[in-house]
This record gives sequence, C-alpha cells and structure tokens, in this order.
Amino acid sequence: MAKNHNDLKVLVVEDSKVTMKALSNYLERMGIRQPLTAGTGQAALDIFRRNRPDIVLLDAILPDIDGFDIAKQMRAAEKGDEWSAIIFLTSMAKDEDLAHGIAVGGDDYLMKPISEVVLKAKMRAMHRLVDMQRSLVSVTQKLNTANRELQRLATTDGLTGIANRRMFDELARREWRRCMRIKQPMSLVMVDVDHFKAYNDTYGHQAGDDCLKAVAAQVARAAPRASDLAARYGGEEFVLVLGDTTLDGACWVANNIRQHVDDLGIPHTASQSRHVTISCGVASMTPYDGLPLEALLNAADSAMYRAKAQGRNAVVCAGE
Ligand code: GH3
Ligand code: MG
Ligand code: MG
Ligand code: MG
Repeated sequence: MAKNHNDLKVLVVEDSKVTMKALSNYLERMGIRQPLTAGTGQAALDIFRRNRPDIVLLDAILPDIDGFDIAKQMRAAEKGDEWSAIIFLTSMAKDEDLAHGIAVGGDDYLMKPISEVVLKAKMRAMHRLVDMQRSLVSVTQKLNTANRELQRLATTDGLTGIANRRMFDELARREWRRCMRIKQPMSLVMVDVDHFKAYNDTYGHQAGDDCLKAVAAQVARAAPRASDLAARYGGEEFVLVLGDTTLDGACWVANNIRQHVDDLGIPHTASQSRHVTISCGVASMTPYDGLPLEALLNAADSAMYRAKAQGRNAVVCAGE
C-alpha cells in the first residue's frame, strides 16, 4: 500500500511554473494537497523560517540566490533538534555538482525532468527519515525530562525538599573557592534540633518527620540570596551556607532562625522548654589557599555543641 504523506509539510522551491505545476500534481496524488511554494530563494528562506517544513524540494538554479546557498542558509537556520529533509531538483549531470549539493546540506537529489515514480520513491524514503527524526526528538525530550528529574532527586532531600548533603558538599566547596577569589568571609550555620530523639519517642516517627519539615522551612527561609544555601546535613541537622557574609551577619541570621523555630511553638513535652527548639553553631572564615572547608565545618560544629552545653535553644558564634 502506498504510504500516505498527508502529515508532511512540504515546501517546493521552483521558479519554472511548468515544473511547479507538474510537481504540485504529483504531490497531490501522494496526498499532499497544498504544499508551500516559493519561486525565489528569498521567499523560500522566509517560508522556511516561518513554517519549518519537513521536506524541501529545492531547485538548484533560481533567479536570485543559488540553490546551494539556500540549502546552506536553511541548515544554519535550524536550531537544536530541528531538521528538514532537503532534496535538490537539478538538471546538472556533473557528479561534482551533485556531491556539492550533499556537502552543503542536501539529503538527496532528483534529476529534471522529474519522474513521478522517482519522486514518489524519494518522498517515501524521506518520510521514513522524517518519522525517525520525530521519534528521536520525542525520545530526546523524554530523556531530558527524566534527566532533569534525576538531577533534582539526586540533589534534593526527599523529606524536606531542601538541598541534600551531596548538594551541600558540592555548592559549599564552590562557594568556598569563590570567597577565596573575592577574599571575603564565608559563614556556616549548623542547626540541630534539640532533644529530637525524645520528640520521636513521644510523638512518633511520622510527627518527627513533620517537625523536620517545619524546621527545614525556617532554615530555607533564611537563605534567600543566590550565594546562600540551606541543606539537610544529616538526620535532624541542617546547615546554612552564607557566602560573602561576616560572622556578625551570620549570627544575626542564625538568631532569626532560632527565634522563628521557637515561635512555631511545636509542642514537645519531653523538652525543658515544652516546645521544639534548635541549637545553632556559627563560624566564619576568609578562605585562603591551603585552608580546607572542613576547618569551617568543624568550627561551626563545635560552636553548635557549645550551644547544646549552654542549655540549648541557643546560638553560639565561633570566635566569641
Ligand atoms: P540533642 O538535643 O543533644 O541534639 O539530642 P537529640 O535527641 O536531638 O540528638 P540525637 O542525635 O540523640 O537524636 C537524633 C534523633 O533524630 C535520632 C533519630 O532517630 C532522629 N532522626 C534522624 N533522622 C530522622 C528522620 O528523618 N525522621 C525522624 N522522625 N527522626 C529522625
Ligand atoms: Mg530554476
Ligand atoms: Mg544531631
Ligand atoms: Mg538533636
């Protein structure tokens, strides 16, 4: 059975009215009722840019622009996955001319006078290529979507929706290098939920998860700048990266987070304050060559433990 081509957008570029008429008739018999048509190179390029035809039948010799140049410009106009099949219509018999047509971006050629049988066969072959191109584009799009989702899953913490440890490790290192270049301090705030084991024991693991989400939202709120990052560091620990930020600035931010969590007033009968609180450790360093990021992490971590030792629901800034 003859393949139906009515899903194809075809552009015919031909300055000879007689040839154009013959081609239109042949195409109509293949199911292509109204092909796009152009009698000059300029018109062909305009229509090509606007309509993105699947197949172009392109006369090699036109009154204004050389057909080979047109093919070149059409290829240059294609973006990303876009691709149109270009078939030259030529009366040139020289092998070099045919080779040149393919070299500048043509996919095939038809000798004039055009034989209906040969045109039909070539349209079929090109239609197959167009179909393959279409499914390739659709598979590529699905792959891209899947890759974006994978990327998101690989960098986001499933429970809280904020950045995960892996993302933290990567971005904190990048920010550390950036601050080294601009010779500005980078600050870290370590956040740990107080008596969280007891919270789980009292209210159950599900309630514990909800509590972590609520705390994560408060940490995330404190990281609005592009160089800030709020991440889940581990179980009930969060970390805030503050690039180009002094110790004073970071302490102010940490106190805000501590206050905001305090204000949530999530009941926690097993805690001395009777509601959920956090302890924060803050550290700030201007990185230099040879100083590892771990130095800043350790300083923030030990400041956090001092906040615990001070009775929790507190912020301790390293260097104080
Ligand atoms: P401290 O005030 O000294 O920080 O005491 P704590 O009980 O908070 O600290 P500890 O490290 O003993 O306990 C942390 C608890 O956090 C233990 C663990 O079961 C819980 N936890 C860690 N990850 C999750 C989680 O994803 N969901 C829930 N619900 N609990 C978690
Ligand atoms: Mg011509
Ligand atoms: Mg902890
Ligand atoms: Mg804790």
